[in-house]
Amino acid sequence: MAITVPRPKLNWRERLYLPAIVAGLAITFKHFKNMLLGRTKVTMQYPEQKWDSSLPDHYRGAPALVRDEDGRVRCVACQLCEFICPPRAIKIIPGEIPSADRFAKVEKYPEQFDIDMIRCIFCGMCEEVCPEQAIYLRKDYAITGFTRAEMVHHKEKLLEIGGVIARNRRSNARRHVEMERKEMSKIANCQSPVADSRRVDRPYFRNPQSAIRNR
Ligand code: SF4
Ligand code: SF4
Repeated sequence: MAITVPRPKLNWRERLYLPAIVAGLAITFKHFKNMLLGRTKVTMQYPEQKWDSSLPDHYRGAPALVRDEDGRVRCVACQLCEFICPPRAIKIIPGEIPSADRFAKVEKYPEQFDIDMIRCIFCGMCEEVCPEQAIYLRKDYAITGFTRAEMVHHKEKLLEIGGVIARNRRSNARRHVEMERKEMSKIANCQSPVADSRRVDRPYFRNPQSAIRNR
């Protein structure tokens, strides 16, 4: 049913609009004066200024793949992260490493590894569950693109932004994993129905440590 909204009746002064324009300009000049006198609190001038330097160590940004010091892609295409990813943002097609290859002791590698950044919720489950420490959440949070296709990060792009894993970075990630493990233990001990359902769906909630390989 249509609703008729009554228009307010304007007096002659209101119909002139000039008083309203003058009042608006007065507010603008008041802010301008406060800015000149340094009284205005200016918020961060994004994107020229960013939070990057003040982000905490455990900040979870966009996920990326890494290579080891020998240039090998650390991912062994076990697909654990694909399985665990809550919004199903990861798609992996495993490939087999030929027996003559110098890295043949690892059976598989990711022939295709895509992460849909529109779906990704930066939860960090992939990093936590990875047995090879091959995927990390970086501190990038400004992921942009003009099309949906651009927002899918393919293997090459993930490796490019991930780079080579260094020893200190590994330990940072380790700290992150430890912190996450504590949070997960709290959830696992919680008696709420939500936590119960998560325990059923995700077996690693019963023993979060089983997802972490000691290196
Ligand atoms: S951070 Fe979470 S949502 Fe994003 S790819 Fe990893 S598991 Fe999926
Ligand atoms: S869990 Fe790690 S090793 Fe397994 S597919 Fe994902 S990134 Fe690769």
